[in-house]
Amino acid sequence: MLTITPIPAFDDNYVWLFRNPGGQVAAVVDPGDGEPVLEYLKVHGLELGAVLVTHHHGDHTGGVRDLLRVFPGIPVFGPARESIPVVTRALREGDRVRVPGVDAEFTVMDVPGHTAGHIAFYGEDALFCGDTLFTAGCGRVFDGTAVDLFRSLSRIAALPAKTRIYCAHEYTLDNLGFAKWVEPDNAALLEREKHDRASRASDRPTVPSLLALELETNPFLRADVPQVIEAAQNHAGRPLQGGAEVFAAVRSWKDREYD
Ligand SMILES: [Zn+2]
Repeated sequence: MLTITPIPAFDDNYVWLFRNPGGQVAAVVDPGDGEPVLEYLKVHGLELGAVLVTHHHGDHTGGVRDLLRVFPGIPVFGPARESIPVVTRALREGDRVRVPGVDAEFTVMDVPGHTAGHIAFYGEDALFCGDTLFTAGCGRVFDGTAVDLFRSLSRIAALPAKTRIYCAHEYTLDNLGFAKWVEPDNAALLEREKHDRASRASDRPTVPSLLALELETNPFLRADVPQVIEAAQNHAGRPLQGGAEVFAAVRSWKDREYD
């Protein structure tokens, strides 16, 4: 069992810290900034046992060196298919990750799309997915492709519905605004917005969310739903064949017109 805590960084990033309940050793995922992590560790009297990174972007890796200065020699787990100089344990699909001092095991999933070598860590009913799947949205396509991202999201969608989604940004309310463009009549979506607005109004994170909720409300996991297909086709002005085309049309709709 794990205690998983968000450490806010920059404007809207979350660095996820996990440890066993009462444990003295923690690990962090995607520390774009080291300072708030070091502060948290100090306040709570914790040691850092490892760093996990999902992809090469600076807001996910920029704090690793600062952490290594204080905790030299700890393993830094990251994707084998991306060039990240601070990574000491290069990981591929199916690899297992164990953090020294933390009783938990994660399995690596290759989830390219946002970036070409992006990985996610799955275990303990949790998914640390970086910028691949967001709450009510998904990452933009940078050095991967939309087809890659669609496949990656489809694999995530097939995980157990009780999986908690620990993405790296607080984007939910903004994403829900676009989701309503695609599915204005989705009752679960409107209900979610009410709930998440209340959370943000009292400064609570909306992350993690449950995969079950994402499947009901996230347009990027719903490319096979008739209303999503219809909205995407109406917007594209042409018939779309299959999930990947529907997904790519919704992704470019949001890129061009929403944010
Ligand atoms: Zn990114």
